[in-house]
Amino acid sequence: MPRPSFPRTLRQFQREFAEDDACQRYLAACRWPDGFHCPRCGYDRAFPLVTRRRWQCVACRYQVSVTAGTVLHNTKQPLTTWFWAAYLVTTDKRGLSALLLQRQLGLGRYETAWMMLHKLRRAMVNPARELLHGEIEIDEAWIGGPQPGLRGSRQLKGRRAALAVVAVERRGKASGRLRMEVIPDFSGPTMVAFARRHIAAGATIYTDQITGFSGLSKAGYRHVARKQPLRRELGQGQRSVVPLADRAIGNLQQWLIGTHHGVSRAQLQVYLDEFVFRHNRRRQPMAAFQTLLGLGSACAPSAYAAIRGATDLRKAGSSPS
Ligand SMILES: [Zn+2]
Repeated sequence: MPRPSFPRTLRQFQREFAEDDACQRYLAACRWPDGFHCPRCGYDRAFPLVTRRRWQCVACRYQVSVTAGTVLHNTKQPLTTWFWAAYLVTTDKRGLSALLLQRQLGLGRYETAWMMLHKLRRAMVNPARELLHGEIEIDEAWIGGPQPGLRGSRQLKGRRAALAVVAVERRGKASGRLRMEVIPDFSGPTMVAFARRHIAAGATIYTDQITGFSGLSKAGYRHVARKQPLRRELGQGQRSVVPLADRAIGNLQQWLIGTHHGVSRAQLQVYLDEFVFRHNRRRQPMAAFQTLLGLGSACAPSAYAAIRGATDLRKAGSSPS
């Protein structure tokens, strides 16, 4: 049997997840990658109760929810709507505004789309994620653009722009995983705390020569600080000392302006999380999709390999019925 892959096109996606029972079958395949197993009696056959989003054991009639512990639990929206939203968020490289989602899904209320996006975004940060390691670039930036006439810390008083710090793994000339955080200042303690939260000890960190980075060596990192060429010199073709971090910041700024027409300072972190999420999973749309729906955490640890290899889907066709 050929291995089914993650739907590459909207059309294919719509065909596979056109009805709530197809979505429910998929949820069950994620929850029980090796087939249904009744938590009460251990029997291995069950049938779906589609309207209740549950499976019922054939032997003892015990009912198991397939949405418990996920964003899909206790919502009035059809599973198809949630699946579609998660698919769009996962695959649309520009990211999705609530207005666009509302239109795409034909939702009656803007608030519904906004809330769905919000819930999906909350599923984007995995508290147990691994630290970055190897060679890392760190750079700091004003998000929202510097304000004319204000310099350095005086920018903070203006409130229009926010400070952010970016860390990205070097994989040759390409970017590996990414982290972004809104920070209160560019001070040494702030930068060291950021590094400790996101970067494994012993990693090599490349930065420019801003003094905030000077504590990194003491904190257990191999720190390489180089003088960043002036903006004018960069424009004339000089190489940045942190090219990958610069590119990430540039893409972030474009995305915030292009898709969201700017973002308030209070909400910026959530958008940084979304940007990082999409970047880090850009080659694994299947894993991204499942993470958003909260399916990753519902699966046993060993199921991750099955999800990556799509072997869980192979079982979907032979799910207990
Ligand atoms: Zn049972």
